[in-house]
Amino acid sequence: MVFSVEAKPLGEYDVVVAGGGIAGSFAAASAARQGAKVLLAESGGCLGGTLTAGGERHILDADGKGGILRELFDFLDAHGMTVARRGEKVDPDGKKIPGRITDGEGCKFFLDTLMKQSGVDVLFYSRVAAVSQSERDGRTHLDSVLLVTEAGNYAVSSKVFIDATGNGSLAALAGCGYACGEPGTGRISPASTCFSVVGLPPQFNGTDSAAEKRAYSDMMKAHDISASAEEAGIVRLPAMGEWLFSLDYQYDVPPDDIRRLTDAAIASRAEVFTAVEKHKQIPGYESIWLSQTAEHLGLREGRRIFGEYRITEADMTEGRHFDDGICLVRSKVDLHKLHAHDTLDAGRGKKTQPYEIPYRSLLPVGTDNLLLAGRCLSGDFYPHASYRMMGNMAATGEAAGFAAAVCATEGVALRALPPARIRERMKEYL
Ligand SMILES: Cc1cc2nc3c(=O)[nH]c(=O)nc-3n(C[C@H](O)[C@H](O)[C@H](O)COP(=O)(O)OP(=O)(O)OC[C@H]3O[C@@H](n4cnc5c(N)ncnc54)[C@H](O)[C@@H]3O)c2cc1C
Repeated sequence: MVFSVEAKPLGEYDVVVAGGGIAGSFAAASAARQGAKVLLAESGGCLGGTLTAGGERHILDADGKGGILRELFDFLDAHGMTVARRGEKVDPDGKKIPGRITDGEGCKFFLDTLMKQSGVDVLFYSRVAAVSQSERDGRTHLDSVLLVTEAGNYAVSSKVFIDATGNGSLAALAGCGYACGEPGTGRISPASTCFSVVGLPPQFNGTDSAAEKRAYSDMMKAHDISASAEEAGIVRLPAMGEWLFSLDYQYDVPPDDIRRLTDAAIASRAEVFTAVEKHKQIPGYESIWLSQTAEHLGLREGRRIFGEYRITEADMTEGRHFDDGICLVRSKVDLHKLHAHDTLDAGRGKKTQPYEIPYRSLLPVGTDNLLLAGRCLSGDFYPHASYRMMGNMAATGEAAGFAAAVCATEGVALRALPPARIRERMKEYL
């Protein structure tokens, strides 16, 4: 079925970013600071994506990383809005940033302020829903995108576009190829709803270690509380007495099946509500209260768009570095069960050594003026379960924004950007 819709012209930009998660927000700020005229279109009503609307407040693989990520932590630290999992809050050398649990409202305020100060034009409630494209030198060239908004439809033209939708929705609209799921089985990482509770016993100390997670799950089972995740992840939030929980797995939730996405979101909330209510029967937990479930069902995996370079398992296990490296990944393979009866160990026995994300993995095959930022970048299944941590996704955004701005303002083709230049710009993430 083909619809023809009226769209008002919204203007012409140097860079249009689709999606305002950590990757998209950092991409937009980075491009604007480089002198580009930037529009950031976000389908929801706040910036941060999984970090805020998805309720996942624990920024991992942030150690030793600088750039806008450090600015975020500096802001949050100044307001007492981070906590370390355990141990010291500030690194002894005052330089490294350990994985921190952040305050969601603090992150939202920081990102709003970042956009304002960088001069990014932000539109909320605005979904990138279609593309208009032509051909240039054998590649697809995006001319404009259709924004479907609360206030009608708009057409936006730009020199360069960045897909930071998490699920690679813009690249898919542009006809780019992609993969999703485990090779062979096609099973994708489970989705989960993050939620926060208050009213836990005063002596409660979270489940930071694997042993503590198992012990908590055993305690729930002993009280007839069923949870589909094999382990309950519970960490302290910066707000006094508030805890962040994740204890459910929704299997086989692909990014392109809206009924399954909706059903999974409902099933997930039902599981969370029931589990928290049942906690009230456990001695000491009588006052537990479900404070909030995240607005977004958390999708760990979406489309992995095919790029000029696809990060491989060997890159990760052998710790490869690249001339055009933009970020050093230190995270392990954080795979969760792929179906209810999965008995394999979480990481599938895959070991990692610190490896780099190359700039080429942000360049979708066959397109001329499109970049990827965030979890839709080009990589295989196992490395994706390692590099998708927010510390790395932040870096890919900052790199994509820089490259897009250079391309738009200096007339350098995205593929002609000298590797040494992007590496130099990204040295604080390497
Ligand atoms: C349950 C769960 C637990 C996790 N745990 C951790 C953890 O402990 N630590 C860690 O570091 N990482 C964790 N991760 C991974 C990490 O959170 C993500 O990989 C990362 O946040 C992805 O960032 P992003 O900016 O690429 O995408 P997202 O955060 O998904 O942001 C994408 C944004 O794009 C918007 N959008 C989507 N489509 C469109 C469109 N068509 N037009 C306009 N806007 C659009 C969305 O509304 C959203 O705001 C977890 C992920 C999940 C799901």
